[in-house]
Formats: sequence, structure tokens, C-alpha cells
Amino acid sequence: MKIRHIKQAMLAMLVSVAVPAAVQALPTAEPVKAQHSNAVIALTDANIVSIQGGAPIRNAVVIVRDGKIEAVGAADKVTIPAGAEVVPMGGKWLAPGLMNMHVHLGLKLPGAEGAALASETDPQMALRMAANARRSLLAGVTTVRLVGEEHGVDFAVRRAIEKGEIIGPRIKTAGEIIVPTGGHGFLEADGPYALAHAVREQIKQGADWIKIAISGGIADTHGSIAAAPMTDEELKTLIDVAHRNGIKVTAHNGSAEAAKQSLDMGINCFEHGYHLTDDNLKQMKAQGVWLVPTIVVSQAGAREFYKKIGSPDWYLDRVDSTGKDHWAMLQRAIKMGVSIGLGTDQFPFEPNGGTTATVAEAELYVKAGMTPLQALQSATTQTAKLLGIEDQVGRIAPGQYADIIAVGSDPTADISALRTISFVMKDGRIFRDDAHGKLAD
Ligand SMILES: [Zn+2]
Repeated sequence: MKIRHIKQAMLAMLVSVAVPAAVQALPTAEPVKAQHSNAVIALTDANIVSIQGGAPIRNAVVIVRDGKIEAVGAADKVTIPAGAEVVPMGGKWLAPGLMNMHVHLGLKLPGAEGAALASETDPQMALRMAANARRSLLAGVTTVRLVGEEHGVDFAVRRAIEKGEIIGPRIKTAGEIIVPTGGHGFLEADGPYALAHAVREQIKQGADWIKIAISGGIADTHGSIAAAPMTDEELKTLIDVAHRNGIKVTAHNGSAEAAKQSLDMGINCFEHGYHLTDDNLKQMKAQGVWLVPTIVVSQAGAREFYKKIGSPDWYLDRVDSTGKDHWAMLQRAIKMGVSIGLGTDQFPFEPNGGTTATVAEAELYVKAGMTPLQALQSATTQTAKLLGIEDQVGRIAPGQYADIIAVGSDPTADISALRTISFVMKDGRIFRDDAHGKLAD
């Protein structure tokens, strides 16, 4: 850590504990971009994307105080508080920070890169996950939902980010993936009460969600994606226990049969959904069940990624055969109005088709039938709803956490505008500002 950061960190601590609110508006000793969420920042000369449809706000100002958005509006209607740090945005378009609902910060896949991580220790994994968290944030992803990590390392990473020890997106995590023996995950349990115990263990450690796998996956070397290996009793008890604790359940699922079974048991969300039928999608819409497509993993753009990690041929074949169904399912889900939250199942920043996996995923949603606005909502307002934190994030509006990205043009006109992310603010702190040569370290 550099000395100036230590100084700033100490100053921030002093300011946050000892100084009355009015004084917090004063700039810190260092006349650079604010490093801390307790500064007052005015983003000026910006256009604000209209995330709920309608006209954007042009020549707008956003006032950020104590990490939250205090005011948003046209420049002639918003007063910039005395002492605020003014950050001119040069006519860029501001959108809510992106949210990615299917992330594994410790991801390991079959292939050479995965094999090299086979003997990775938990401390090594923690540091790798911290590096991946940082890169995710700098790619414009200010919130992630982790849907399967190992040995509780995710809880440590979440805590370190919340305490400001490392930088990364705000994290909601499902802890370990709970599966029946031989399932698509690591925390194996069989029978209703062993599964209930596994759920309670994850919740005790701090899980925000429960993630289960109710069918096989592309990366599995055994079993069929189409099978439904859990019994009714097992699924029913598992979901019931989670719900009794106020925790929602999402399932890795590619199977129509397992989908029907778990929908009847009150599941809240499906990941991937490779082979979901129209009946499944209809039932999801009727019950308000979410779909996190991760379409990017089964389509052409992911080839570059699989080659890079040295994926074996059998894996590439499985991706291809699954990809066709997956794409057709996504098109139908969009047409039928199923609620969709953006998720990638790749690192949010993973290179994909000249952009990141997160942006590529949003572009594919448009290609599959969403409007650009709907695709952007699937990574902002919709994901906030999926997580139940729509009163906190997902919009650039007073009272929301100041999680903001800037892009070169209006992404609701062309979603590919997200390829030009040049500014990332989370909790009112600027982590990246290309125009002013700033990058958090
Ligand atoms: Zn996954």
C-alpha cells in the first residue's frame, strides 16, 4: 500500500468517526479525485440514461454524498454544494453500475488452466478471487451474485470488500453449491434432512442465497443434463428450509423434468435453463421465477475463451450441442416475458468478442429479442429486483447507492455502447476514470 493511501485511509477514518456532517463536505488534503465515499462529488456535463424508459436527462448533474446519490437533474435545476469535488464527464452517458448474477470468482473449468489450479490452496484461492473481484469492478460490474464458491472463501472476500480492505463489487453469495452425491457441485448431501443441514450450514456462514444443482452441467463427465436426480422429498425440504430462513433458492438447471419438479416445490430462480420447454417457461412467468441465462457460455464468442483455457474436445462438442437449444430457449423466454437477470458464468471481465463477457451477454439478449433498454435493465433494475435490493441499487436516483458507470453514447439506443465503459463509481468512490487517468490500485 502506498503512503498516500495510508494517509487517506487514516483521514477517512478520522472524518467518518469524529467530524460532523457539514465538515465532511470539505475536500481532503489531496487535491485529486475523491478516494472515499464520504466526500461530496458532483458529476457534471453528463447525460443520464433513462433506465425506466422515456427521455434521458441531457447536460445533467449528479450529486453524490456519503456514498449515495443525493440529487440528479438538469444542470440548471441542481445546485452543486460548496466544497464539492466537481468531476466533468465530458458529455458521457451515465448508467447504473452493471450487475452480474452468475459469477464464480474462484472459477476453475476443465482444461489446462483448470488443471494448473488443481492443487490451489484456500489462501491462494482467496488472493486469486480478490484479484478477480478487482477486475470485475473495474470492468463496470458493481454488484455480483456468487453462485458457487468453495470452503467459505467467498464470505471472507465479501467481508474484505465491505471493510474496504480490498476492492471489488458488492457481493451477494450463495456459498457452496448443494447437490446430491455425484451432482454438479461440491457440497454433497443425500436425503431431506442432510440437505436441510447443508442449507442451514450455508445460511449460518452468511449465505444470501442457496444454490443447488438439480441437473447435470456442460462440464460434467457423467450423467445427463436432462435427468432429474433429486427426489421430491429432498427438493421440497431443502427449499422449505431456505424459505423459512428468508433465503431464496436458485438452481443450476438444464433439465425440463427437474424444472417442472422444482417449480412445483417453489424454486425462485434457474441458472442456464438450456433445455427448458414452453411449459416450464410459462410456469416460471406465472410464478415470477427468474431466469439467469448465461447465454454467453454456449455461443460462438466463448470459443476464444475455451481455447485459451485449453478445454478438451469433448467439452467443446457438448457446448456446441447444448448451445442450439439454449439459444432457442432464450428467444422464447424473452418473447414470453419471463423475468431475466443478466449472468455470465464467466468472469465478468473475461474477454469475449472484443468486449467483456458481461457486455457480450447483454448484446446477445438484444440479438435474441430484447430491446437495448430491456437488456440494460436485465443488468440493473431487474437484477436489483432479483436480489430484492431495488431500493438500494439499479438506478441513478436520489437515495440509491452511487454505483455508476459512464459510456460514450446512449446504451438504450445501442447496447454496444457498453463496450466503451470509461468510468466506474461504486458507493460514491471513483475506481476508474479514464478521462482523468485514474485507476484504483
Ligand atoms: Zn456457474
